[in-house]
Amino acid sequence: MHELSLARGCVERLEKIAKAENALRVERVLIQIGAYSGVERAAFEFAFPFAAEGSLCEGAALEIEETPVRVACADCGADSNPEPTLIQCARCGSAHVEIGGGREFTIKTADLEIP
Ligand SMILES: [Zn+2]
Repeated sequence: MHELSLARGCVERLEKIAKAENALRVERVLIQIGAYSGVERAAFEFAFPFAAEGSLCEGAALEIEETPVRVACADCGADSNPEPTLIQCARCGSAHVEIGGGREFTIKTADLEIP
């Protein structure tokens, strides 16, 4: 399962951050998942507690912010938010678009319990 290894990666990064701050644990984490990132939100939410087990992230509240696909059209100049399954300009239908957002998969914020 792809999302489990991603969740493990997040937990590792969060542990590094928590240790650098001498935190007791991670209380809350906000993760940004783009609609075009290939990460499935539900699967990630399911996997995270397993990945967090025994780490400083165990019991952390997981919040997810989904970001839409954003494209800029080279033909009509419009910025639009097409469905991730159909990457084209939502205004004129052109495929000459540049993807400006939607690929995100990042830890946005983490709340730490610091003694
Ligand atoms: Zn267009």
